Amino acid sequence: MKVIEFLEKANKTLFSYEIIPPRRGGSIQGVFDLIEQLMPYDPPFIDLTSRSAEVYYEEFPDGMIRRHVKRKRPGTIGLSAAIKNRYNVETVPHILCRGFTREETEDALIELNYLGIDNVLAVRGDDLRQDISNRSGKTRNKYAIDLVKQIKAMNNGQYLEDLVDATPTNFCIGVAGYPEKHYEAPNLSTDIKYLKAKVDAGADYIVTQMYFNNQAYFSFVDRCRAEGIDIPIIPGIKILTKEFHLRTIPRNFYVDIPEKLSEQILEQSQEDITRVGIEWALQQCHELIEAKVPCIHFYIMSSATEVAEIVSQLK
Ligand code: FAD
Repeated sequence: MKVIEFLEKANKTLFSYEIIPPRRGGSIQGVFDLIEQLMPYDPPFIDLTSRSAEVYYEEFPDGMIRRHVKRKRPGTIGLSAAIKNRYNVETVPHILCRGFTREETEDALIELNYLGIDNVLAVRGDDLRQDISNRSGKTRNKYAIDLVKQIKAMNNGQYLEDLVDATPTNFCIGVAGYPEKHYEAPNLSTDIKYLKAKVDAGADYIVTQMYFNNQAYFSFVDRCRAEGIDIPIIPGIKILTKEFHLRTIPRNFYVDIPEKLSEQILEQSQEDITRVGIEWALQQCHELIEAKVPCIHFYIMSSATEVAEIVSQLK
C-alpha cells in the first residue's frame, strides 16, 4: 500500500519510523529486534535510509585511474523486502542521486518493483566525494528533482532506453523538506521554490528534516501552502538522549536546538537527559496531534526504546 493512501485514509495522526541499515556485514537481527519494539504500535510504514559508498580515484603517471571504495553500507533494498515480508509492514527505501548512476538507480527500482515495494523516498545524498567527474559515460542525477523525474518516467513506462515491453512501475514518491532551510540554500524562499519544483515533478508527499521547535514546522507548512505546495508534509522528530547530541545534531543536520532544551540538558545527569529529551519530543507530538498533522515520522538511530515509550503514551 502507498504512503499517500495511508495518509488519506487515516482519521488520526499516524506514527512512522526511519531506521538505518547495519554497517556492512552487520547482523540483520539487530534491526529485527528494533522493529519488534515498534510492532505493538502498528507502524503504517518504516523508512530505510541509504548510504552511497565513499569512493576516491587514484591517478597513476601512465594515465591509469583506479577506483577505491572506502566504505559501503549496502542493505537498503534487501532489508526493505525482508521487513515487509517478515512483519507485513510497508517499507520505504531511500534512493539517492549521489553515488549512483541513473542506470544503477533504474536497476534498483526494477528490483524494488519486483519485490512488491510501493514507496520510495527520493533524496540527493550528501557525499561530496561522489562528485568526481563521471568517467564512465554513464549519466547521473544531480538534484533530487532529477531522481523524482526518473521515477515518475518509470511510472509512465519510460525507461532510460526505449524498451519494447516496458512495464510501468507504480511508486509513491516522497521527498525531503527543511523547515529551517537546507544548508546549501541561500534562504528559505529559494529552498521552498526548489521544493515546489520537486512536487511539480511528481512527488506525492514530503518528510521534513528533524527540528526541535514546532513553530519552525508550522511556519514552513504555511509558506509551502502559500507557494502552492498542497501535498502532505510529514514532520520529522528526533529524541535527544545524550549530552553530545547538542553538538553532533547541529553539526550533522544543520538544525537549531532551542535554548530552553539545551539548558535543560546541560543541567541534568545522563539518566535525566533521556527523560528531558523524551518530555520535549512528547510535548512536540502533543502539539502536532492537536494541529492534526497526518503523520509523525520518528528518526531512530540505534535504539527504539525512547520512541516506543512516547508512542505508547500517545496511542
Ligand atoms: P535537493 O532537493 O536536491 O536539494 C539540495 C540543495 O540544492 C538544496 O539547497 C536546494 O535548495 C538546492 N536545489 C534543489 N534543486 C536545485 C536546482 N535545480 N538548482 C539549484 N539548486 C537546487 N541522506 C542520505 O545520504 N541517505 C538517506 O537515506 C537520507 N534520507 C533523508 C531523509 C529525509 C527525510 C531528509 C530530510 C534527508 C535525508 N538525507 C539522506 C539527507 C539528504 O540527502 C541531504 O539533506 C541532501 O543534502 C539534500 O537532499 P535533498 O533531497 O533535499 O536535495
